[in-house]
Amino acid sequence: MDIFSHTLWGYGLFGRQKPWLAMGFGAMPDMVSFGAFAIIRLVNGNYVAGKPPLEIIPAWCFMLYDLSHSLLIAVIVTLLLFWMNRALAFAMLAWPFHILLDIPFHTRHYFPTKFFYPFSDYFYDGIAWNSLMVWLPNVAGVILVVIYRLQSRKKATSL
Ligand SMILES: [Zn+2]
Repeated sequence: MDIFSHTLWGYGLFGRQKPWLAMGFGAMPDMVSFGAFAIIRLVNGNYVAGKPPLEIIPAWCFMLYDLSHSLLIAVIVTLLLFWMNRALAFAMLAWPFHILLDIPFHTRHYFPTKFFYPFSDYFYDGIAWNSLMVWLPNVAGVILVVIYRLQSRKKATSL
């Protein structure tokens, strides 16, 4: 899924108490991998908009993608945090949710989501998130959860 959708899914579903954190955790898995690579290309003056070809993506970007998209790691970290700070852990649920969205909507051709990493390289060869049959329902879902979140925040502030 695109990073804006992940950010807004995080806000809509998990941004009740800590909206900025939920958005940050929603975006984080892609920011630490693709985002870091995009910033480096910007600084080096060789950034080109759009999906970079696999041949120019450095090994560290693949490793950070695999680490940040491991459902095992995300669930363990979120559960550990749950005992320390429940509001923070609730916002952090945007991280495992990001991975759950990526598992069926990445193909084996471009960054398949190895959700048992580092114990297994298994992935599901899904449907690309940018195909219209995925992207349009995604946009509809994002709009619904953001409206829900905005309405619930309005109600909370008017009490
Ligand atoms: Zn992702």
